This record gives sequence, structure tokens and C-alpha cells, in this order.
Amino acid sequence: MVLNGRVAIVTGASRGIGRAIAISLAQKGAAVLVNYAGRADAAAEVAEVIRGAGGRVLVYQADVADPKGAEAMVKAAQAEFGKVDILVNNAGITRDNLIFRMKDEDWDAVLGASLKGAFNCIKVAARGMFKNHYGRIINISSVAGLTGNSGQANYSAAKAGLIGLTKAMAKELGSRNITVNAIAPGFIDTEMTAGLPEGVKENMLTQVPLKRFGRPEEVAELAAYLASDVAGYITGQTITIDGGMVCV
Ligand code: NAP
Repeated sequence: MVLNGRVAIVTGASRGIGRAIAISLAQKGAAVLVNYAGRADAAAEVAEVIRGAGGRVLVYQADVADPKGAEAMVKAAQAEFGKVDILVNNAGITRDNLIFRMKDEDWDAVLGASLKGAFNCIKVAARGMFKNHYGRIINISSVAGLTGNSGQANYSAAKAGLIGLTKAMAKELGSRNITVNAIAPGFIDTEMTAGLPEGVKENMLTQVPLKRFGRPEEVAELAAYLASDVAGYITGQTITIDGGMVCV
């Protein structure tokens, strides 16, 4: 159990990639705060899975885009489990549109959930990590943040911003044994991609050498590795997990 004694917060852990990360960290021994925005039923199911396997879990509703919500969430984890060692900034949404049609609120919502959300959570969680001389921060970016995507100005900007935030934080927090890395998934089989038309999915797969969508559990294993002690000399990096789509 490589994460025995560790405490993790996973934002947006009620579904998809966040759900898989929360379950994986718990399976490896961490106590986990499962954050969600609106889907209490889905978050409760994740908690059931973790508890059923003997893990420790706290379910917490918070919109991470709201600084007060993010702060209260980190404090709740500290109150329940005593500290926060691992922060996975996974919460994210899409509001796709061409730039001329993109509404201000779609820009703000996407940047808010992903980039501002990560900033809000790091700001509070890193304080305790700083005191404890230990921390693992993992930001879930996207290949869209590396390459850009037509129709995703907001999402691409948010995900590229997360990569910059990752690099800055790695430099700022490294002296206290806090590592900060980003994961850039390609096409992963979740509700975020489930709604895409079949034709779009087929077209996407032509860009993927491995010819399939990734599974949330595959992203979760990478996150669990970065969250573990053995990844202690990796920081400031963006690791793609995309079936070979983007080679940088
Ligand atoms: P998903 O299935 O749509 O799940 C999104 C999760 O984020 C849900 O748990 C949702 O909570 C939560 N969330 C949304 N806004 C939030 C907010 N403001 N505060 C707190 N939680 C919030 O998405 P996914 O596909 O697993 O994606 C997870 C992350 O990976 C995202 O950052 C996404 O951009 C990134 N990513 C995904 C793919 C992909 O192909 N799927 C590729 C690259 C990157 P509720 O259930 O309560 O709504």
C-alpha cells in the first residue's frame, strides 16, 4: 500500500477520471476527500466503493471556482484526516463553441472550474504541505492545452494555463519537498466524450496510433504514481497519456 498514511483531495471525483483517481488512491492506502459540484448521487457511489474496500473517505460538495468553497473543502479534509498530502486538481468542464459565438459566461465557467479552481485549491492546500515539508500536487490538463483545439478557445486556454501554473508552482514549492506535475490526457472514455457524435469520435481515433480511447483507470494509475513517494524527483512536468496522439 504505497499511499498508506497519506491524505488526498481529488476535485471532480464523482465521475470519470476523478472517480477513477479517487478509487485508485484509496486502494493504495490514502484517505480521500471526494469532491463534486452537483451530482451528490454519483459522489456517494464513489464513497461506497471506497468504503466497501475498507478505505477512508469524505464526500464534499464544493464549486472549486469559488475561493471560499475551495478553502472550506481543504479545511474539511484537514479537520477530518489531520492534513492534506496529495491534491489532484481534476475538476473541469467543456463549453465548446467557435470564438465568435463563445459567450463570456462560457469562457468564465471553463476557466473557473479548471484554472481558477486549481489556483484556489493550491493556495490553501499548499500552506499545510509547506509546513509539513511534503506534498504532491497533480493538475489534470489536456492535450488541448498543448496543441489547441478548434472550437475550444476557453478549454485550450484553461488547460494551457494549468501547465504554466504547474511549472510556476514546481519552482515555488520545490524547496519544501512539494512536487507539482500535470497530466495531459488525450481522448478518455468518460461522460465528457460520451456525448460526441459517432463521426467525430471516429475522426478522433484516426489521430490516435493506439486506435482506442483511453480508460479513466489508465489515467488514475499515472496519477497514483505521481502521488507516491517513488515519484519524488519528478516535478514541473506535463505527462501526456493519449495513445500516442501528441508526441512532444
Ligand atoms: P466528467 O466525466 O465530465 O466529470 C467532471 C467532474 O468534474 C465531475 O465530477 C464534476 O462534478 C466535476 N466538476 C465540474 N465542475 C466542477 C466545479 N466547478 N467544482 C467541482 N467539481 C466540478 O469529466 P472527465 O472526462 O472525467 O474529465 C476530468 C478532467 O480530465 C477534466 O479536467 C477534463 O478537462 C480532463 N480531461 C478529460 C479528457 C477526456 O477525454 N475525458 C481529456 C483530457 C482532459 P459533478 O459530477 O458533481 O458534476
